[in-house]
Amino acid sequence: MVTIPPRLLPADGRFGSGPSKVRPEQVTALTAAGATLLGTSHRQPPVKNLVGRIREGLAELFKMPDGYEVVLGNGGSSAFWEVATACLVERRAQAAVFGEFGAKFAAATARAPFLAAPQALRAEPGAVALLAASPGGDDPLGPVDVHATVHNETSTGAMISPRRAPSSVEAGALTLIDATSAAGALPVDLSETDVYYFAPQKVFASDGGLWLAIASPTAIERAGRIEADATGSRWIPEFLSFISALTNSRANQTLNTPAVATLVMLAEQIDWLNTQGGLTWSVARCAESAANLYRWAEASEYATCFVTDPAHRSTVVGTIDLAESIDAQAVVAALRENGILDVFPYRKLGRNQLRIAMFPAIDPADVKALTKCVDYVVSG
Ligand SMILES: *Cc1c(COP(=O)(O)O)cnc(C)c1O
Repeated sequence: MVTIPPRLLPADGRFGSGPSKVRPEQVTALTAAGATLLGTSHRQPPVKNLVGRIREGLAELFKMPDGYEVVLGNGGSSAFWEVATACLVERRAQAAVFGEFGAKFAAATARAPFLAAPQALRAEPGAVALLAASPGGDDPLGPVDVHATVHNETSTGAMISPRRAPSSVEAGALTLIDATSAAGALPVDLSETDVYYFAPQKVFASDGGLWLAIASPTAIERAGRIEADATGSRWIPEFLSFISALTNSRANQTLNTPAVATLVMLAEQIDWLNTQGGLTWSVARCAESAANLYRWAEASEYATCFVTDPAHRSTVVGTIDLAESIDAQAVVAALRENGILDVFPYRKLGRNQLRIAMFPAIDPADVKALTKCVDYVVSG
């Protein structure tokens, strides 16, 4: 076993892309909530106020435009793919696919018997595919009414700037952004989106199992119409009803019981981000971490950035390929023995790679320390 000298080690060894590092202050808040919130009814004011604090905190963090609303429900981002498929896609979706997560939403809409096959805009892992104008009526499957993309592809470490596709507003099409690993750490102009959705176990340093969506009036109107018109051809289970989630969220509740501890840690992280300087601060902190990582890789003789275009290199999830002569799995294992955790690549990508989360909870100095530790293990 390689023993990394303690002076090289990061102060905190958690670099996983989700669940991701929880700050000690969040755990302290959990202890403080021990007798007042934990183990109490989510239908009573204390937990409802906690949900209200989350909804207001997110509105502030994202400078939410008028008329947009914060909606939440149980089941994580994966559940929201099904909610969107059931309640937001009218006839056909367009999905940008440049990694596993984008592919999953495309697959969800492909499985729905009441929708036409999606238009998938594909790019190789490590590159990005951008949303495009809807195909015209001459496309055999017809135009699209939803444009969907991920903001940050957690499986490959490629990011984009969310922007509406050309003529999509005129065409009345919605723009849905899976921002699960981006929200709260990458820049966004919500007016370029109709639904910006995410889960708490990445940037928000909490546990999984919840979805959060910031929805535009157009998206809310669309769901209301689809759900009101749903006939035998489209069965919308109540658990997947966007309008049911919206109605509960407006009352600072969820359809069914949420994990109260997850809400406490989430609220704590949102407040922390807002107090530190909001999204601008968070974006800059992650960019500093990313600069530490990518500068090291560019100078290294054995490490290279997997995402070739620097503009699309994620500042929240970094992917670093190692030379063939070095076994990345062995490096990951040696780091783990020294308390540096979860820097393995996305399982289905199958590359000789390290994947390093750089969410705002992670100190940029710790990212720098991690690079020194990798050098130590490799030269070992
Ligand atoms: C992690 C992740 C998901 C899945 O989130 P769950 O809450 O586990 O369902 C979806 N999309 C992206 C981009 C992710 O990073």
